[in-house]
Amino acid sequence: MIIKPLEKPLTIKKLEALLRRIDKNHPKRPQIEQDLAKRTAGFKGEQSMEYHLSFLDQRKYYILHALRIQSSSNYCFQMDVLILTSKYFLIIEIKNIIGQVTFENHFAQFIRTLNGIEEGFYNPLDQVKKQKLRLDSFIESQKMKRPPIISLVCFTNPQTIIRSDSRVKDSQSVMHAHNLFSKLEDLNQQFDSSIFTEKELLKICRKLLKQHFEEDVNILERYDIKRNEIIKGVQCPVCSNIPMNRKSGSWFCKNCNLKSKGGHISTLEDYRLLFGSNITHQELKEFLGLATNSTTSKIIYSLELTHCGSKYRRTYKIK
Ligand SMILES: [Zn+2]
Repeated sequence: MIIKPLEKPLTIKKLEALLRRIDKNHPKRPQIEQDLAKRTAGFKGEQSMEYHLSFLDQRKYYILHALRIQSSSNYCFQMDVLILTSKYFLIIEIKNIIGQVTFENHFAQFIRTLNGIEEGFYNPLDQVKKQKLRLDSFIESQKMKRPPIISLVCFTNPQTIIRSDSRVKDSQSVMHAHNLFSKLEDLNQQFDSSIFTEKELLKICRKLLKQHFEEDVNILERYDIKRNEIIKGVQCPVCSNIPMNRKSGSWFCKNCNLKSKGGHISTLEDYRLLFGSNITHQELKEFLGLATNSTTSKIIYSLELTHCGSKYRRTYKIK
């Protein structure tokens, strides 16, 4: 059963909004594009994992994607996939990496080789070990029964070549995603007694979901980009030109001649991703490039935005 489905991460949406709204030649653009590419590759890996998980018996496996919880020591930890069963819990760290990867024992290194170039990454075995410890202490803090916790590192690209130093102890925890099904069959044989009832598992799922906090970074702060560097105006959904102009209740693109009624909606979504969901009348007027207060009020009214504050310091909430 999918308890928490996979969704596009908020940070990816924020990076995409930022790239739509900074100059083509902005000096930070290459860094932002590189960060977005890395996160998108990770998300694609998670999407292909979804396919492999779809073969599992929905009644036996409770699946949570991208769960990020605050542990008792106030650390946040994220698990790409957490699977709860009546006998054990399973953490899966997903890696979508091209080339050859090597787990090396002596310095606990994880090295990727692509086109003859070696690059070191954070060792995923070390990563899952820490996730396991944190999940275990979270379960303990919730006064729940403590099941065995298994952790796996899954490579979703079938072309990735995995190599391991013979001394790497946990190498059996590393596999290609398409081997997951048989790995679960092995685990089910290894752990034969049930610890949780279905009702108990659902209760744990509710507790975990309640403690889930999605990563919510202030993207402008992260890249040290000033508010005035953000390009204002409604963006054309077809040719990406900014700004579209408002004429008799519609938005017009002078670049591709598109006429659209709801052009301001995705623009306000960009505002929300970059600056947060609160907006004043004046900020909305400026960001959409509206000429008059009455048009601004009309748009606010049509969007049915909720508001707070007195008449003169009113802020609206972008849904
Ligand atoms: Zn256009």
